[in-house]
Amino acid sequence: MIYLDYSATTPVSYEVLDTISKVTKEFIGNPNSLHALGLKSAQLLESATKQIADIFGISTNEIIYTSGATEANNMAIIGVAMAHHRKGKHIIVSKLEHPSIYAICEYLKSIGFEIDYVKNDNEGLIDFDDLKRLIRDDTILVSICAVNSETGVRQPLKMIRQIIKKENIATIFHSDMTQAIGKIAVNFHDVDLASMSAHKIFGPKGIGFLYKSNMIKIVPLIYGSGKVNELKPGTPPLPLIAALSKAIRLANDSLEKRERFINLLNNKIITALEQYPNIKINKTKYSIPQILNISIMNVMPETFIHIMDKHEIYLSTNTACSSGDISSSIMAIYNDIKRAKHTIRISLSYVTTTEEVNKFIEIFKEEYEKIMQVK
Ligand code: PMP
Repeated sequence: MIYLDYSATTPVSYEVLDTISKVTKEFIGNPNSLHALGLKSAQLLESATKQIADIFGISTNEIIYTSGATEANNMAIIGVAMAHHRKGKHIIVSKLEHPSIYAICEYLKSIGFEIDYVKNDNEGLIDFDDLKRLIRDDTILVSICAVNSETGVRQPLKMIRQIIKKENIATIFHSDMTQAIGKIAVNFHDVDLASMSAHKIFGPKGIGFLYKSNMIKIVPLIYGSGKVNELKPGTPPLPLIAALSKAIRLANDSLEKRERFINLLNNKIITALEQYPNIKINKTKYSIPQILNISIMNVMPETFIHIMDKHEIYLSTNTACSSGDISSSIMAIYNDIKRAKHTIRISLSYVTTTEEVNKFIEIFKEEYEKIMQVK
């Protein structure tokens, strides 16, 4: 099999599996319990959290564990909305967000919040002038993802933060960093809130975290007991948390070296496919190499994906979360419906091999040329 859908999810690495198994067997106590077994679990929870905090240069109490990025996005955006609605009900998001962000915005709109969508240029870069223009005295939140999940377009968060804070110091800045963490270097100090998910970085499904700067206040979405974190009450899933910590440590090793290698693979695919006039490469100068988006203008993406499936080659249409729709990200960048209806995402990882890419190219060409002959 050739798996080229690492941005949808990744398999759990052996080291991480080992951690899950060991912690499940050896740490049976509830970290909230006062006895020795509880204490043992609480100590592991503390050290796993400290390791994450040290990697990102943040405090342990700025990490709130969630079931993944969807929950972190909800906790951040609804949490800010509920905590600050007396100051204002205006929220700004980009046109390059994950569908979960838009779903949250739709909900907030239904209860009286006002949502604006900041423009981007034809390279996918946020339009700074438009952002400046949109920020008002009652703007409580701006949410802009670090890396777009369909095209890999990366945003300059530091610069965006400066613009936001210059216009309105009280406006909170959230970034969905799910497709950035473990692929490129990120700086949590560029934002006030950030979301991530372990299953994108060879960790288990069902765990992620929200970074929340100690400088800002959000309201909890769920209520309960437990001393670990008031924003996420209940018994912490220790095996998953230890696994998340391990996955983050492994993912942040040799980021640049890995990115250079993936860039070579990305270029190899582009060189092979750009010779076909009906294949558009949806790559801009801000796209990270791990995510390569193309539009096969004369074939429906589902058809092509199923053909590749027969060869055990696994690709995505737009994203696993919005399959079947028109790609909103391609529309936002290229404003071309046909292009947005025909997208295929090829997502690469540092575990992808040159042999896999060569084989993928060979089969892709063979199958594509077969279709061309029939047409
Ligand atoms: N945000 C982005 C940018 C994503 O790519 C994803 C996963 N497709 C999510 C949020 C949702 O993450 P999770 O599956 O962990 O809820």
